[in-house]
Amino acid sequence: MISFYPGPSKVYPQIPQYVLEAQQQGLLSINHRSEEFVAMSARTIQLLKQRLNIPESYQVFFVSSATECWEIISQSLVQHASFHVYNGAFGEKWYDYARKLQPAAHGFSFGQEEKLNPNLWQVPAEVELLALTHNETSNGTAVDMEILKSIRQLHPQRLIAVDATSSMAGAHLDLSLADVWFASVQKCFGLPAGMALLICSPAAIRQANTLGENRHYNSLTSMIHHMQSWQTTHTPNVLNIYLLMRTLENREGIEQTAQTIQERYTRWMQDLQALPYASLLIKNAAVRSQTVIAVEALPEVILQLKESARKAGIILGNGYGIWKTTTFRIANFPAIETYEIEKLRTFLQEFR
Ligand SMILES: *Cc1c(COP(=O)(O)O)cnc(C)c1O
Repeated sequence: MISFYPGPSKVYPQIPQYVLEAQQQGLLSINHRSEEFVAMSARTIQLLKQRLNIPESYQVFFVSSATECWEIISQSLVQHASFHVYNGAFGEKWYDYARKLQPAAHGFSFGQEEKLNPNLWQVPAEVELLALTHNETSNGTAVDMEILKSIRQLHPQRLIAVDATSSMAGAHLDLSLADVWFASVQKCFGLPAGMALLICSPAAIRQANTLGENRHYNSLTSMIHHMQSWQTTHTPNVLNIYLLMRTLENREGIEQTAQTIQERYTRWMQDLQALPYASLLIKNAAVRSQTVIAVEALPEVILQLKESARKAGIILGNGYGIWKTTTFRIANFPAIETYEIEKLRTFLQEFR
């Protein structure tokens, strides 16, 4: 089966071979305080910094999921309130989690066809952190780097946290424009689920240390402490760290990857706009995601399309949340191979 599901998504074809290597090298049972682990962790972070253009002064942490990052941020970086800007299900879920930990959290929702305008926000004085979703996986929208830049200029004294779960390692992000970035690895990283990366600027590290929150196994202060020797607070997903290291060794830099993703996206736009039975969910090209494409059609068409696709060996992404029955989604992630894209293109053109 060929999967276009936007997470968990298709993993790199080399993964089975890397798993075998890990087993042969005895890595599956190594101690996470051992020298071998420390060397692997340090090398993986060094490769991440190189391949993703992470500023040298930023710190990288291994965590379990993007959902965990939502909680870490509220628990370890927010004393009074965070301000959540969202236009879809994942951004809203983050806001829901934040409110449970910090009832004073604020929300600001905007339309999915709307270009985000930070001049419209009324951010209360006590807010110390702004929370945004770079790539809203539920509806296939994304926030432009230019907008992040203007948010930075409007809020120089506040931390900016960005959920980039379905774009990091696929889109070219200017990480210097925010203080906290995170993504789980089962999307653009093309790895099995069960791990996420949390990336923090020096300002975020300072804020964590100032607040000094240390009541949880995943308190950021404890994570910072352990990462000084490339370690984690708990036994991490050692196999996935190894798989991340091996895939990064063989991946090109993010500029080249993003270029390929953009070319594939342009071609998808031409193809999808020509389909007689479907249309793009997001009409405004300026806010469309390049890594997750949502396509709209009548519920009966969607149903039939997914069923025929499955028979043809292709898994399409279900619609998410309120778009469950009226859309399907196509992951435009780096691990998907050209021949697979060709197969789906032909299928969609020949459908009905
Ligand atoms: C998939 C996704 C999540 C949740 O990721 P988990 O690894 O399941 O916690 C959060 N945010 C966005 C934008 C996502 O696409």
